[in-house]
Amino acid sequence: MAMMNAQQYRDSLARRKPMKVYLDGKRLDNPLEHPYIRTSMNSVALTYELAHDPEHAELMTAKSALTGETINRFCHLHQNADDLVKKVRMQRLLGQRCGTCFQRCVGLDALNAMFATTFDMDRKLGTRYHARFRKFALAMEKNDWIVDGAMTDVKGDRGKRAAEQQDKDLYLRVVERRSDGVVIRGAKAHQTGSVNSHMVLVMPTASLKTDEKDYAIACALAADAQGITYIYGRQSCDERKLGGGEASDIDAGSAAYGGQEALMVFDDVFVPEDMIFMNGETEFAGQLVDQFASYHRQSYGGCKVGNGDVAIGAAASIAEYNGVAKASHIKDKIVEMNHLNETLYACGIACSANGAKLPAGNFFVDALLANVCKQNVTRLPYEIARILQDIAGGLMVTLPSAKDWLNPQTGAILKKYLAGADGMSTYERMRMLRLIENLTMGRGAVAYLTESMHGAGSPQAQRVLINRLANLEEKKVYAKSLALNGSLETVEAAIRAGLEKIHTPDA
Ligand code: SF4
Repeated sequence: MAMMNAQQYRDSLARRKPMKVYLDGKRLDNPLEHPYIRTSMNSVALTYELAHDPEHAELMTAKSALTGETINRFCHLHQNADDLVKKVRMQRLLGQRCGTCFQRCVGLDALNAMFATTFDMDRKLGTRYHARFRKFALAMEKNDWIVDGAMTDVKGDRGKRAAEQQDKDLYLRVVERRSDGVVIRGAKAHQTGSVNSHMVLVMPTASLKTDEKDYAIACALAADAQGITYIYGRQSCDERKLGGGEASDIDAGSAAYGGQEALMVFDDVFVPEDMIFMNGETEFAGQLVDQFASYHRQSYGGCKVGNGDVAIGAAASIAEYNGVAKASHIKDKIVEMNHLNETLYACGIACSANGAKLPAGNFFVDALLANVCKQNVTRLPYEIARILQDIAGGLMVTLPSAKDWLNPQTGAILKKYLAGADGMSTYERMRMLRLIENLTMGRGAVAYLTESMHGAGSPQAQRVLINRLANLEEKKVYAKSLALNGSLETVEAAIRAGLEKIHTPDA
């Protein structure tokens, strides 16, 4: 199959078997028609639509490493640092277009991490997962699938490991091994775009010990597989999308697009042997998690920057509606927003440009810089949002309902008393304030702020990796060599000797 367009993507989801999706206490007969889900699907559909736009083809498509054909970049095994850079640029583009999470990057990041880990696993352990995963990768790009990367277990008591939990199902595990496959049970939390996906790629959530073999399971299954239940996540102000018509359009802030997270429950789901890519190899669980996480931390240097562009645009626009665009402190605040946003982009580009080839042949980000990127993403969007709220003014949260605007009795009053700068539309001013509310407190804030904090791992997860990857011993060599030596020759000799000691495997 060639690359799908947006309509073909929607049609392909409609062809799935009926899925068990619960939302607001009810099982949905037709999940794709629900306003929360339909608008989140619009965000994913953009990844198909823009791939057919000649203007964006360079970023949105790639030449397959497996077939040489043109494929959607979201199905691509990165072949060089330029591919990694283009990935981040593509994510910024999409973040600008929908102002929220477009959900497809998790599958791309899982694809590249799993490709690399299965290769390393086979090489060390003599397993035969890589060829099997290659077939999956081929099917993913040929069918132009959305793949939900299902990593985050619900975890129960965070002070205990998987095998120590009282309820063993709190980490997804194998409950039965058969000659033709395995049966898995458990739940994955915060599953981005899961209801909008064709396939699910299940992965372990953390490094594992040798007595945790049942948790070392990586496998693929159809999103509509029997035994999977989805319980849709509530998002702030999501009811603004209900009711339809102009009033809900205005009050939603961003009516056309949305993100999506669901709790995904696997109730004794059978996975056939040819879809299993790790089954008990505990020593490779940590590598898979770290590689996936680093790829996804790179991703945030693109998508959240695109969301930040929308936030900055909203700040500049509301300043105009309010009549303060020329005030020097407003201009300075917008400079600060841009400075923060481009700092994030610089991190996303840097970890990509510094990427390197893996033994499997695909390219990996600079993991230290990718973790620094995500650590910054846990902070800077909050400051950008704070400045945006500062510029917007309090009306952002005291604005009457769109129903009052549309009511002839109150509408005329609002039009008179909520007027802004001379010549500017009060109606547009009101809609811009709703967008700002959405981005900083509503459904958009789930993507722009909370996802920035916790998506791809909470801040502490990045600090653990930064600590592991920043070579302190090497830095100590530089400091000690300068402090303890008095001449150019002795400094240089000390540095060389110190580095040699660190980098010699037996040292
Ligand atoms: Fe993609 Fe960003 Fe959403 Fe992750 S949070 S799936 S990187 S848009």
